[in-house]
Amino acid sequence: MTDLRQAPGPVRLHEDVELPRIVEENPQVSGMDPVHCDLEAEAAQHTSHVHGLLSTRVTYDCSRCLEPFERGLTARFDERFTDDPGEADEEHHLSGETIELDPYIEQAINLELDVYPVCSEACKGLCPVCGANLNLGECGCDRRPVDPRLDVLKDWFSDDGSK
Ligand SMILES: [Zn+2]
Ligand SMILES: [Zn+2]
Repeated sequence: MTDLRQAPGPVRLHEDVELPRIVEENPQVSGMDPVHCDLEAEAAQHTSHVHGLLSTRVTYDCSRCLEPFERGLTARFDERFTDDPGEADEEHHLSGETIELDPYIEQAINLELDVYPVCSEACKGLCPVCGANLNLGECGCDRRPVDPRLDVLKDWFSDDGSK
């Protein structure tokens, strides 16, 4: 990183990008701020190296208690693009003059999303009997595990019932 500022040509990209598909395609995500992109693009003859940091805030639905909560998200961005058909593998091919970065930004954000977000490690979740949010108080249901011998019967009946 030492000589970047003296090198001719690196372009800094500061931009906020809306990515509505993140919310549409991830059921555990109920909202997301525009993604703040803090990127630098270095162009060589046929290639362009774009790298930097993405940051945003995500609203998740807790996978235990289903309540929404917000969490910051940062993702590293590091992609190489080329318009040289001889280059392959690590680099993404370009067809036009400009690079459409949004799909790559979306991919980088997707990789950092929590798949089973939990509002807090101490989240007690919902009562399996009545559905009450146990973080808000005890509902009074009997949630003791049933006798293991009866459990076999219970599975048998629920299998039967689902057909
Ligand atoms: Zn929760
Ligand atoms: Zn309950």
